[in-house]
Amino acid sequence: MKRLQGTGTCAGFAEGPVFFYRRATAGGGPGGGGETEAARLALAYRQADRQLEDLRRLAEEEAGAESAQIFEIHRMMLADEDFRQCAAAAVERGVSAEEAVWQAAEQFSALLEQTGDPLLSERAADVRDAARTLENALCGGEPPALEFPQPVILAAEDLSPSETVRLDKRQVLAFLTSGGTAQSHTAILARSLGIPAVVGLGPALDASWDGGDALVDGGRGIAVLSPDAEARRRFREGQALAAKEQRELSRFRDVRSVTRSGRAAPVCANVGAPGDLDAALESGAEGIGLFRTEFFYLSREQPPTEEEQFAAYREALRRMGGRQVVFRTLDAGSDKQAACLDLPAEQNPALGLRGLRFCLERPGLFRTQLRALYRAAAEGNAAIMFPMVASLWELQEAKAAARAVQDELRAEGLPFREKVPLGVMIETPAAAVLSADLAREADFFSIGTNDLTQYVLAADRLSPALRRFYDPLHPAVLALMRATVENAHRAGIPAGVCGEVAANPRAVPLLLEMGVDKLSVAPPSVLPVRAAVCAF
Ligand code: PEP
Ligand code: MG
Repeated sequence: MKRLQGTGTCAGFAEGPVFFYRRATAGGGPGGGGETEAARLALAYRQADRQLEDLRRLAEEEAGAESAQIFEIHRMMLADEDFRQCAAAAVERGVSAEEAVWQAAEQFSALLEQTGDPLLSERAADVRDAARTLENALCGGEPPALEFPQPVILAAEDLSPSETVRLDKRQVLAFLTSGGTAQSHTAILARSLGIPAVVGLGPALDASWDGGDALVDGGRGIAVLSPDAEARRRFREGQALAAKEQRELSRFRDVRSVTRSGRAAPVCANVGAPGDLDAALESGAEGIGLFRTEFFYLSREQPPTEEEQFAAYREALRRMGGRQVVFRTLDAGSDKQAACLDLPAEQNPALGLRGLRFCLERPGLFRTQLRALYRAAAEGNAAIMFPMVASLWELQEAKAAARAVQDELRAEGLPFREKVPLGVMIETPAAAVLSADLAREADFFSIGTNDLTQYVLAADRLSPALRRFYDPLHPAVLALMRATVENAHRAGIPAGVCGEVAANPRAVPLLLEMGVDKLSVAPPSVLPVRAAVCAF
């Protein structure tokens, strides 16, 4: 028996045979002459581009626009002039087109790895993944499908985005990877598909697992190969307990989120892709507390038009019936890149032109979104909130843009709602410190603890190396949250929390004790959080 502990990234239990996936290694060899090889390479670029576009579409259908965005990045990598020149120079030196592709890929990934920046180092794996697609195209083929004759626990070092998309997921009982983090592609895909997954199991997860029987507990991050009777007994116990918890939670589906003392604290859902709306409705959420509108802008060549946005926002409002949907205006920049927006290259993107700042600098784009929002708001219970506010004047400018849009719509005779609540996300330390002033100009606050924590503690929210330092329950973060809630209440407006910390049932009593009025979490967390509210 072998038992490994990793990071559980999608809860759930699985039991079955392991398939250890080994990636075919890169080919090489002498070239068939500069001109022939250059022509093969030119053809392969076109084929790879088409294949990547197909993969993007497939990923978008299966897992939403956010997961699909990576293929847009692969396309950009293969279209990069420097990359192409590097491969062309290798062909001129007489190597095969395949070898030239790998020489260019290795040169580029080495440059990214040398930066020491974990995010850029992850991009090195993407360069290699894109190169594999190009190599497949050179071999004249479509990339092979990853299919299994029977359901398997799929183990691998890590899976690249193009591999995860080509997988026949119906046959995957669970994912195990020796590398990877909670932010890796395998983890994101597993969560969106609800397949149990454990990442970061270390080098002991190797080819020796292939064909063996295994147990996976995705919630606790455990994988056991050839389990003995005791391990099986514990696994069954865990399964039974989880099923019992699930049954107990289901009774909170149709109740209101009210504390024992009778205070209502609605539990709403965060949505980031159209597919999440189904999950939000199923979860019994009392509204959408955070509708991330970025996904409209991902994976496309032009920003979405007013009509496209109007249709999507209206659809969300209709589906939610009379329950409120809080639309956050475009929060692009930093970790949320979108090729169609032509975002500037920045040295410190998290401190750069992002969120509301970007919209204020691109008034045309902002105006289009606000017009779509005000028009859709005529058909449901909508609110609008602005991300990454740091100064009072930013909120005032945003409100002025909203007023201008209303004037325009009125003059054009288009139906829209006059009174849409306008809120501020409190996610910079400045906004929390200035919350008394902001509260006089805003209709509500929503505390974005994901960013607030990163800025208060100067700890990158995406860096696996900073896990110990990035703490949303740090006293400094809690102090700013408390001040924000107090200032909101003094001005007579509500304050909610829509960052990940609200999904932690152990943090819920702390937030309620602070006076937080509303919690908004990912759909799978709605019921556990509601149970915690009702128990408070
Ligand atoms: C936050 O920052 O807490 C938040 C909810 O927004 P996002 O995670 O989209 O930045
Ligand atoms: Mg944020």
